Amino acid sequence: MQLIIVGAGVLGVHHALAALDAGWKVHVVERDPRPRSASVRNFGLVWCSGRRPGPELELALDARDRWEQVGRRFPEIGFRPAGSITLARRVDEVDVLEEFREHAAERRLDVELLTAAGVPSHNPALAGDALAGLLVRDDAVVEPRRTAPSLLDRIEAHPSACVHRRAETVEVEGGTAGVQVTVRSLVDGTTELLRADAVVLCPGAQPSGIAAQLLADQPVDRCQLQMFETNAVAIASRTAFADGDSLRYYPGFAELPSARDLAPAEPLVDAERLQLLVAPRQDGGLTVGDSHRYDEPFPFDLDERITDHLLERLGRALGRRSPRIRRRWSGVYARYLGDGPYLHLTPQQGVHLITGVAGMGMTVSPAVAARTLEVLG
Ligand SMILES: Cc1cc2nc3c(=O)[nH]c(=O)nc-3n(C[C@H](O)[C@H](O)[C@H](O)COP(=O)(O)OP(=O)(O)OC[C@H]3O[C@@H](n4cnc5c(N)ncnc54)[C@H](O)[C@@H]3O)c2cc1C
Repeated sequence: MQLIIVGAGVLGVHHALAALDAGWKVHVVERDPRPRSASVRNFGLVWCSGRRPGPELELALDARDRWEQVGRRFPEIGFRPAGSITLARRVDEVDVLEEFREHAAERRLDVELLTAAGVPSHNPALAGDALAGLLVRDDAVVEPRRTAPSLLDRIEAHPSACVHRRAETVEVEGGTAGVQVTVRSLVDGTTELLRADAVVLCPGAQPSGIAAQLLADQPVDRCQLQMFETNAVAIASRTAFADGDSLRYYPGFAELPSARDLAPAEPLVDAERLQLLVAPRQDGGLTVGDSHRYDEPFPFDLDERITDHLLERLGRALGRRSPRIRRRWSGVYARYLGDGPYLHLTPQQGVHLITGVAGMGMTVSPAVAARTLEVLG
């Protein structure tokens, strides 16, 4: 069996790994020399805690186990079962954490509500003004700038794989006799026809060629996020962490009855849908975000009010001055607005398009790939 995968973001590389493990021959076609989209711009959070109970949370928990296995095979991705702490600085936020803890067992999450003193004793980096913290042991981290690129290198080294970099998929034709995929080199403009049993398109938020045409009428929108990374902190953070504004954002918290009693958000938090979300990097730095903009065209420049707000919240969480910023960027993900956690479109026999994994794409990719492979047989 032969499979063509279009897009070498985290979704594409997990589909390629799963197919190679199943004994398939694989072609991966990627427009860029190396992945540089959402899959390398994210926090690297394998974040189960805020997922909506049901298919979304099940997908995340399944993926969490698969990430652990991938991390064992490929240590360079930096998988760590670090857990996360969501910090509450107000009583209304503590109420949401308490209600979440009451439902944790039925959600199959390993959770503990830490007291004000318990937060720094579990994670000495968090010496700020939290009243309580929700420790979720299921959450994990990988190194996002290395994960998709290094997995693509591993795939390229596999004897059953062929990676086409700087190549764009322009046409796809499916049918009972298999699929034909036309690929154009972005280096010299030449085209090549690839044949296989099936093609999986994972084009992310900036699709081109046939992927863009197939998505034109689909209920998928896009979200732009603003991020930064700091130098190493004085005391390295043992966990990922978030502030109470994340309780408004993640459905696993936001849909609890107690979340209706959360005090109104500050105007900037409300306008930019801000939350403090922080992932520890292996070298002691912190990846910090994020804002959420849905109205296009997105601004081309970064907004310092967002950075200032996040730095202030970071300082409060750490209980010390925030470390210096070493880089800033923005990123865009695609969000499926229909039923279910993501879009799996089958426009022709053997042609599969998968996208819309939104802010949980890094988390769920290995489980999404496993489900696609089940469909392909
Ligand atoms: C700032 C930010 C932070 C985030 N944080 C997290 C997080 O911590 N945890 C989490 O779970 N999720 C997070 N997400 C979401 C997650 O990053 C995305 O859902 C995920 O990376 C999407 O992966 P993808 O492979 O579908 O898309 P992408 O990473 O966009 O990859 C798609 C690839 O397809 C290629 N491509 C497109 N069209 C063609 C074509 N015609 N021919 C050839 N190649 C093509 C592109 O060049 C691209 O490399 C975050 C997203 C952003 C933007």
